[in-house]
Amino acid sequence: MVCSLFMAKRKSKYTPGNFALRVARSGTGRGLFAKESIPKGACIIEYTGKPVSAAKQEHMSGRYLFEVSKKVTIDGNVPSNPARYINHSCKPNCEADGPSGRVFILALRKIKAGEELTYDYGEEYFDEHIKPKGCRCIKCK
Ligand SMILES: [Zn+2]
Repeated sequence: MVCSLFMAKRKSKYTPGNFALRVARSGTGRGLFAKESIPKGACIIEYTGKPVSAAKQEHMSGRYLFEVSKKVTIDGNVPSNPARYINHSCKPNCEADGPSGRVFILALRKIKAGEELTYDYGEEYFDEHIKPKGCRCIKCK
């Protein structure tokens, strides 16, 4: 009994909830928006793509690379990965988290229908790609 409860909890944390989402214009090109309200803590979508080794990754750059460990990076620039449209925000409503080698987008707070999904891309990415152009997130604008 305890075991099955534990399993159920584990499953729900990293199982995307099949929420209705849509890609639409946002302040910074395209973004991913909620079409329905999403409860706090919900797993929204998995960030999927092609695994790239650290050696290869050194020769690549771009906003779709997601480092999941010291050795592996996910190249999320594939059509089957709508999570690649989620933009950076310094005051995000989502976070990226997951068991080793995988990335899931989780709701940090309740998200209303029509809201754009955002997460914090991290200091390294921010300094390299966002800071030079100026951050255009809700908090910085
Ligand atoms: Zn910002």
